[in-house]
Amino acid sequence: MTNESIWDITLIGAGIMSATLATFLRELDPDLRIAIFEARHAPAEESSDAWNNAGTGHAALCEVNYTPERKDGSIDIAQALEINVEFDISRQFWSYLLQQGAIESPDAFIHSVPHMTFVCVEDQIDFLRRRHAALTSHFCYHGMQFSQDPGQIAEWAPLVMAGRNPQEQVAATHMRTGSDVDYGALTRLLLEHVGRDDGCKIHYDATITDLERLSDNSWQLRAHDEAHSHYTEHRSRFVYIGAGGGALPLLQKSGIPEGHGYAGFPVSGIWLRCEDDALARRHHAKVYGKAAVGAPPMSVPHLDHRVIDGRHALLFGPFAGASTRFLKHGSLLDLLGSIRWDNIGPMVSVAIDNLQLLEYLAGQVVQSEHHRFAALRSFYPEANHEDWVLQVAGQRVQIIERAPGHKEKGVLKLGTELVNAADHSLVAMLGASPGASTAAYLALEVLASCFPEQLKGPWAEKLKQIIPSYGQSIAQDENLCRQIRASTAAVLGLEET
Ligand SMILES: Cc1cc2nc3c(=O)[nH]c(=O)nc-3n(C[C@H](O)[C@H](O)[C@H](O)COP(=O)(O)OP(=O)(O)OC[C@H]3O[C@@H](n4cnc5c(N)ncnc54)[C@H](O)[C@@H]3O)c2cc1C
Repeated sequence: MTNESIWDITLIGAGIMSATLATFLRELDPDLRIAIFEARHAPAEESSDAWNNAGTGHAALCEVNYTPERKDGSIDIAQALEINVEFDISRQFWSYLLQQGAIESPDAFIHSVPHMTFVCVEDQIDFLRRRHAALTSHFCYHGMQFSQDPGQIAEWAPLVMAGRNPQEQVAATHMRTGSDVDYGALTRLLLEHVGRDDGCKIHYDATITDLERLSDNSWQLRAHDEAHSHYTEHRSRFVYIGAGGGALPLLQKSGIPEGHGYAGFPVSGIWLRCEDDALARRHHAKVYGKAAVGAPPMSVPHLDHRVIDGRHALLFGPFAGASTRFLKHGSLLDLLGSIRWDNIGPMVSVAIDNLQLLEYLAGQVVQSEHHRFAALRSFYPEANHEDWVLQVAGQRVQIIERAPGHKEKGVLKLGTELVNAADHSLVAMLGASPGASTAAYLALEVLASCFPEQLKGPWAEKLKQIIPSYGQSIAQDENLCRQIRASTAAVLGLEET
């Protein structure tokens, strides 16, 4: 065991979330001493890696689960609007880094790829029409097109229409401002940037195995050096648990009472992947469908154009699966190891309340290659089996938390949750949706809850330089929305409405 220095900030995990928060902190106060600990040999080897997620720049343009239908048949766009403008925070953050020269070119991580929703069942067509009307009544969605014309849809997404029965009723929406993001490349770029700073040290092959609060409210962390098989001890005034699926066990180890009652429900994913460049270039869109009954929202099937390492590819899926691992490179015992007296009640109650979801997952697990290919053909009727290979995606750990006012009852949360220690010396990020797209927004949330004093002082001014809309609402100010989107589209090389 060796003792090392005392850090102002420690971030656990080198995925997109820690990389984003570390970059903000470095910009806000270059004197901060920052340490990052990553269990793997390199950054972004879990969910943030390009092939472990779908790379959708989620701005709630094409994902129908963000626009639920109310009982009276009207469409609720509130959640979509929130996610839509959260993505504007990421766009501004990335634009700032490009303008500062911290990242050389947008081409290294983001590409303009229109976002579409495609349906071919009568009641879904009606839903899509009403969804389009509801969304486009707000200026944030200006430019979204709706069509039932097979010719128009074929122009937008030729692979989806070729070989389809001409009698089939179809409808689609199309938003040209959509994007494909390589979050793995972005994570590496951000960490290269912060790693250039003497005050920031990134430890790879370093698994945090324990953390304990000290009497002065700072934290003692124990890191296992995977390369040399020994432990090191570190102290930090502030700890951010950005360990993706590994966040829950670390939150439990921290022992903070705010973490009691939390449990995790891991869902694995599989894609079909096609690396035929010519074919990929014929499908310049991310086309989302509607989820099957009982399916969790993150299992909505989609056929996506991807740009990874400068190469064009197609991705279809995800097919959900059951796994007891919390990380792709995790242990089969992860789920079992996370069971505590305080979370067993919520876990059991969520299992009972979500039988339809469990049934859906069981169905996915026994799916054969034949079933998966049939699903692809419902999107892309002329797909050739030989062009596609299976690709294992990242793990998502959905949050189970105690229902308010109940010790034994739990609720399954499909979003992201920041669990804060009362003294704000530690915060853990749980969950994975909408995910990497909202990393900058989530970093701002961490800053607001954990560094309120600094935000009243010089940080506020600096934040305004990084995020020009900081402190204002893009969803309530049409001019601001137009300006921010135009300026970030120009820097990032994205389409404007
Ligand atoms: C199938 C799938 C599809 C997705 N699609 C999209 C999408 O289209 N768009 C989108 O925006 N988001 C998407 N997401 C979500 C997105 O990938 C995640 O929200 C995001 O990558 C999470 O980043 P992170 O940094 O929190 O976690 P990760 O990238 O998982 O990083 C966590 C890091 O912590 C490390 N770690 C864990 N435990 C320890 C420990 N004890 N000590 C040290 N290090 C540790 C891990 O090795 C890992 O490198 C998708 C996710 C999945 C699984």
